[in-house]
Amino acid sequence: MADTGSLISPHVVIFPFPIQGHINSMLKLAEVLCLSGINVTFVNTQQNHSRLSNFGDVQSRFGSFPGFCFETIPDGLSADQPHSTGFRNSQDLVDMLHRLKNVIRPGFRELLTSDRLKIDSRGPVSCIIADGILGFAIVVAEELGIPSISFRTISACCSWIYFCLPKLIENGDIPFKDEDMDQPIKNVPEMESFLRCRDLPSFCRAKDLNHPSLDFVISETLYSTRATAHLLNTFDIEAPIISQLRSYWPNLYTVGPLNALLNTLRSRTANSPHSSSSSSKSVSSNASLYEEDRSCMTWLDKQPEKSVVYVSFGSIAMVSREQWLEIWYGLVNSGHRFLWVKPPDSLLAKDDEESHVQAETELIEATKERGYTVEWAPQEEVLNHSSVGGFFTHSGWNSTLESMVAGVPMVCWPHLADQQINSRYVSEVWKIGMDMKDNCNRLTVEKLIRDMMDVKREELTKSTAKVAEMARQSIGSDGSSYRNYEGLLEFIRKSC
Ligand code: UDP
Repeated sequence: MADTGSLISPHVVIFPFPIQGHINSMLKLAEVLCLSGINVTFVNTQQNHSRLSNFGDVQSRFGSFPGFCFETIPDGLSADQPHSTGFRNSQDLVDMLHRLKNVIRPGFRELLTSDRLKIDSRGPVSCIIADGILGFAIVVAEELGIPSISFRTISACCSWIYFCLPKLIENGDIPFKDEDMDQPIKNVPEMESFLRCRDLPSFCRAKDLNHPSLDFVISETLYSTRATAHLLNTFDIEAPIISQLRSYWPNLYTVGPLNALLNTLRSRTANSPHSSSSSSKSVSSNASLYEEDRSCMTWLDKQPEKSVVYVSFGSIAMVSREQWLEIWYGLVNSGHRFLWVKPPDSLLAKDDEESHVQAETELIEATKERGYTVEWAPQEEVLNHSSVGGFFTHSGWNSTLESMVAGVPMVCWPHLADQQINSRYVSEVWKIGMDMKDNCNRLTVEKLIRDMMDVKREELTKSTAKVAEMARQSIGSDGSSYRNYEGLLEFIRKSC
């Protein structure tokens, strides 16, 4: 266990990008730090906070840490506005960027200079850990003379691509020259042999260099490089990319998979309220903006070993009714059982799609025995359940890591941002699944599910077991992530 013996406990402010996946991994980091005796203030935007506190798990998870507290800042959303996750169209993104600039950013600055934090009994703020995509928070830390850590909650491979974007624009790789998305991209070191246009982050497909996401990612990446240190939720599996990044960010700590590190720390911390249950793989470390429907665990208990495909496309991806149907037919035709997460607001539906509604109703009826749907599942527990044999995923980084730790193979259907490169790595580099990218039709779904569950099962079982073992070793006391975690604690302690 890392030394927690300092007399003065540092006080860290953690500030995530206000969406599910980012809040989730930053809360895991918060708990890791609390378990190591660090005081933490976790900054949420108002609406997300009220949704989190509705579901008591998070409060009770942190209730036993006297050094932990939440602070909220305005998000610019009115009380009756739908929640802030999910990007239905480019306007949603533009709105989010507008609120970040005009409401969230000044709100964060105001919080840090307010009496609320200045006269805090836990002492002054000694370090700010900001989401890597919120470079402005690093600039605020600089202005206030507070050391900062930029935490990229995405994969190292995508962080590296973000870093290389200006070079790709300079070399004329972006915008793409023609419609052929299989054109190779040769200007990202370490990825020359397999990177194609279609594997770059989704916003690189824009014809226009002024696309708001591209602009936002480039500028925030630039600001975030000014951080005193950098943090990534990854492990040795991304070693070649980590060493590329380290040549630019010497103070880089890779502490992933955070879900596994957290479970290890819970079990090693004798006084932790979690220690009694931590020997089980099923301890949830997720913080959900949706209410988990645990009935799916009872359903999973009744299914044969490794027979179920778990289907989830995360919290942001929007899916059209047509795509849902293609996926449904593909799953049904594969002959396999499935547990499908459909968050309430994830369907891009038009009211006039009567025929689709009819088809969907028939499908639900036809697959009642083999399929189960919920609006939100306890995902880590699901992936570690013995009846789950595969994961049909959107390749969000948290989901990818959770699947790796559980040793579950994947069929990847990426939607946006880092998901495109994550799915390429899953299939071409780590060889723990298949990439369905840009190809959502029932025949492809059926084939890839059959490949994952039957045809390629043996080879995938070997490769996923190897990756799971690598993850396990990295968070063991001699592992790279554990050593980095100790280095991170030392960095934070020195800053107070
Ligand atoms: N998740 C969950 N239950 C669900 C679906 C997702 O707990 O039914 C969690 C999942 O375990 C992961 C997070 O939500 O930790 C999703 O993050 P990810 O980076 O995979 O995708 P995003 O939602 O950001 O697109």
